[in-house]
This record gives sequence, C-alpha cells and structure tokens, in this order.
Amino acid sequence: MNLPLITRAQEHNEKIAILVPRGCANATNERAFTYRDLLHTSSQIATFLLKDAEDLQEQRVAFLIPPGFEYVTTQWGIWRAGGIAVPLCVSHPRPELEYAIANSGASIIVAHPNFEAILRPIAQEKNLRFILTSETLPDRVCRLPEVDIARRALILYTSGTTGKPKGVVTTHYNIQAQVTSLISAWEWTSSERILHILPLHHIHGIINVLTCALWAGAECHMLSKFDAEVVWNRICEGDLTLFMAVPTIYVKLIAAWENASSERQKRMTAGCAKMRLMVSGSAALPVQVLEKWQSISGHFLLERYGMTEIGMALSNPLHGQRYSGYVGQPLPQVEVRLVDEGGELVPPGTPGEIQVKGPTVFLEYWQNPQATAKAFQDGWFCTGDLAVVENGNYRILGRMSVDIIKTGGYKVSALEIEEVLRSHPDIQECAVVGVADPEWGERVCAALVLQPQRQLTLESFRSWAKEQLAVYKIPTRILTVEELPRNAMGKVTKPTVVELFHASSS
Ligand code: AMP
Repeated sequence: MNLPLITRAQEHNEKIAILVPRGCANATNERAFTYRDLLHTSSQIATFLLKDAEDLQEQRVAFLIPPGFEYVTTQWGIWRAGGIAVPLCVSHPRPELEYAIANSGASIIVAHPNFEAILRPIAQEKNLRFILTSETLPDRVCRLPEVDIARRALILYTSGTTGKPKGVVTTHYNIQAQVTSLISAWEWTSSERILHILPLHHIHGIINVLTCALWAGAECHMLSKFDAEVVWNRICEGDLTLFMAVPTIYVKLIAAWENASSERQKRMTAGCAKMRLMVSGSAALPVQVLEKWQSISGHFLLERYGMTEIGMALSNPLHGQRYSGYVGQPLPQVEVRLVDEGGELVPPGTPGEIQVKGPTVFLEYWQNPQATAKAFQDGWFCTGDLAVVENGNYRILGRMSVDIIKTGGYKVSALEIEEVLRSHPDIQECAVVGVADPEWGERVCAALVLQPQRQLTLESFRSWAKEQLAVYKIPTRILTVEELPRNAMGKVTKPTVVELFHASSS
C-alpha cells in the first residue's frame, strides 16, 4: 500500500500543488508544479536514493534545500524510498548542521548546490553519500517499496534553548493524525491557496502549512524566505485563502503596513479581507499584536498551541468565539489534561502542566530512550508548559523551565509580565526572565528594546509598572539592549537573556 499522502496526491493529478512566485528560488518567472509533477519527480528521486536497494529501511537522509519544488520532491522521495527525512535548517552554521547529521546517523546527504561548499566536506569526512539536487535523475522509475504508516518518517531537531537539540521522531501515522486533525478543525479543502513563508525544518512550516496543503489537494505558494513587502504584495493580489505565521511575523507585517501609503494600506487590507482564515502560533501572541492585526486586516487571529513532539494540541475555534490571550480547546484526536507537580489532575482555574495523549504524539527522541521515558507520565507526554482553564478555554502561562519564575515563593508568568510591559509607550520589545538570587530564589528581570531615542530609568519604569502589576511581579532589574537574542525560529533564547544579566552585574 502506498503512503496516504501519495494516494491522495494521485487524486489531484492535474491540479497545481506548488507555486513558486517570480523572483523566488532564482525563478525569473512564476513556476507552477502539479501533483503529477510532484509524484513523478519524487518517484525519480526515490529511485535515485535507492540505487540497488529495494527499501531504505529507515536510513536517515539529511537534506538542505531552500523552500520550493525541490524541497518537497526530496522529502517525498525519501519517504517513498522508505527513508527517514531529516530536514536541515538553511540558516544554521556548520556546527549545527554537523550535529544534526551526526546525531541522526544520516547515511545520505542531499544538498542544493548553494550548500555544496558547506555540506560536501562534512559528507567526505564522515564518508556519507552526497547528492546534489542538480544531478540528473533516472528516466526509468524502479518499483518503490511499500511503506507501512507505522514506520518512522521524520526527525526534527527541537529549538534547543536548553542543552543540545533532541531529534523528535514522528511516524507516518503520527503525521497523518497531525494533518487530519488540522484539516478537519480548520476545514481545509482542495480549493485552498496558502502562502508558505515559514522555515522548513520546523513543524509549523512542514506540517501545518506544507503537508496540510498537499494532503488537502490545495495550492502551496512557496516564498524562499520571509520578506514583509513581498508577503504584502502577494496578499494584495487577493487570491490567497489562508495564512499562517508566528507572532514575530505579524509584528513585521504590521510595521510594513504602518510605513505604507494610505492607498497601499487600503489594498493590503482588501487582500486580507479575501482570506478566510489567518492563524498564529509557535509562541504567545501578544494581545496588542492581535488587536492591531485585527484593526489592519479585519481578522481576529486564530491562535493555536502546539509543539514539535505533539503536533497541534489546542486551538481557538474556526467558527464561534475566539478569545485573545487564550488558545482554545483540544483539537480533534488530541487528549489534553492539566496536572500538578504530583501528577494529579488540577481543577479548572488552577494552573497545571499540559500533558497530551493520542495519535499525534511523537514516537521517541532519536536514540535517546532516557529522554523519551522522562518525557512521558502514564502514557501522557509532559509538555513542560503550564496552562490554566478559564471558562472552558486554555490560557498558556509559560514554560515550566524558563517562563515560569519563582520569586519569594510566588509563581509568576514571564509571558504575563511581558504582555504588560509591551504596553509601555517606550518599550518596543522585551524579555522577562528569572535570575537566581539568594534572597528571593529568583528575581524578575527584564531585558528591554526601547523605541528609538527613548530612555528609561528603573525608578520611572517601576512606578509605571506598579499601576499595572502586583508588586512581586515587577522587574527589579532592567537592562536596555539593542536587540533580543533569538534562535533560528525567531524565539527569544531566555538562557542567553539570563546570561546578559549575569554579565552586567559582574
Ligand atoms: P516548538 O516545538 O518549537 O514548536 O515549540 C513549542 C513550544 O512553543 C511550546 O512548548 C510552547 O512553549 C510554545 N508555544 C507554542 N504555541 C504557543 C502559544 N500559542 N502560546 C504560547 N506558547 C506557545
């Protein structure tokens, strides 16, 4: 039996699957690829990967290819040959690429020629097969193996804000559950057109956008990278139906909108109005951003919560009331519970750790049985995120590790404080962390990016904050920085922020 993604693609043969707009991936003209193209090229790639073998038998194939048709056909080719796809990040420096290749035990590397210089030496050193996407593919396609959906499909390396990244292994079955859950909740159809602007080594870009689109038989319009003006140009064309992004991207789109002429602003707003759904996730969506976006686009962003290990777990509804600051309720096929430190269920209104169970939950951390065992409690995956249920809706309070701060015995949420600080007229961006302190356990500290030409003293900041926050939540130290440290996904790396505070006090 073929993989379900492949069987479904066969139903959409002549439809456009991937569209690469002009100027992207060196395309001088817009390039459209049908599902038939996808199926044919991916079977050629599978044949090439197999060489004389009948089945890659879960060999890991690491690949580094910019967003576009070649990325997708390589990913599908690996799957159709029975391999495990290990997508690498186009912006990672050599040590990070080497780590993923070594940790996954990849036996083959597939690279776009742009990355030959960085990857060929790694392949040579490790004696791995090295393939360039520019190589000529075989005309004759061999008989491809039957790949059971229980087999491993994908290894994604998690952001790694703590320790070394872990390889999250999902099976074809997990992917099917993650995708069908979103397709039913957000009512994807084959007439959808989505703009893809997210990284393709991360669940958001791979599952929520790319694989959902291709599963549904929809069109996925792939930009090679995020550029606010290019995104707005595409939105202005008025033919997109769906858009998904992280909060930082919405912030950048808002800034570009504010800099546009009033004529262009009208076209931007009209383009948004043509869409049926705009989604935010992968990080907390500040209420101010949600409100500003609503005033610009007319869309009340649908915020959802998920994680590489579990796919998407909680979502505001497609129809019905969405609440700002909340991530809604469990998605189809997903079981969610909140537990206290002793593993007992907490009642509504009491914070607890989010634990998740069901077919969307990953199989294991790659070759790390200890970490896998530690991550589960009675068959439930422990997310390390705290949430509270209020009026039936989940509100994320932050990660148990860094965003939840224990100060003077009080448990406070860094996200909650940041939300307030962002409403200060002089503060552009901020990151709140807990810094170890002998008296308080942890002190609440805030790194701030100020608006241009503004200054802020601790005194005036604290007297302003007293109006907004319980006194124990108010940062006792502030540090003005040019920009916040972020990882490749654009998330603020809180351990680095903590280090900034240590460095500034020494
Ligand atoms: P990742 O595996 O890189 O997608 O990161 C997952 C983590 O992102 C989760 O464990 C949460 O801490 C965070 N996250 C995802 N969605 C949200 C959201 N809507 N609000 C707050 N945090 C989120």
